[in-house]
Amino acid sequence: MSEPDCLFCKIVAGEIPAEVVVETDRAVAFRDIEPQAPTHVLVVPRDHHRDAATLATADPAVAAHLVEVAAQVVRQDGHEDYRLVFNTGPDAGQTVFHAHLHVLAGRSFTWPPG
Ligand code: C5P
Repeated sequence: MSEPDCLFCKIVAGEIPAEVVVETDRAVAFRDIEPQAPTHVLVVPRDHHRDAATLATADPAVAAHLVEVAAQVVRQDGHEDYRLVFNTGPDAGQTVFHAHLHVLAGRSFTWPPG
């Protein structure tokens, strides 16, 4: 299930180039074009869901799978600690409305986030 005007659906379909680091039957992980850390990867479901909550309701196994793929990305890049973020809704900073898990690693992070 893909949406015609969705940027991440196009990346999943290979219609827009991206630096893919992990691919599974249900998810694709690629490097963010504006990295905020030495490792900044987005893990997205192959199917279109507008945000993390919608995905978790429709397909909880795939929501959990994104976290597994995130851990694999971190190991692959040689890190141990990492931060996972689902920006959900415009006020939280979501700009692309295809669920995506930010995987950030390779530096120290502060709390609270900005
Ligand atoms: O959580 P949010 O929706 O803001 O995240 C979208 C992310 O997608 C941004 O970090 C942006 O840099 C990234 N992006 C990308 N490739 C694109 C367009 C956006 O990696 N072609």
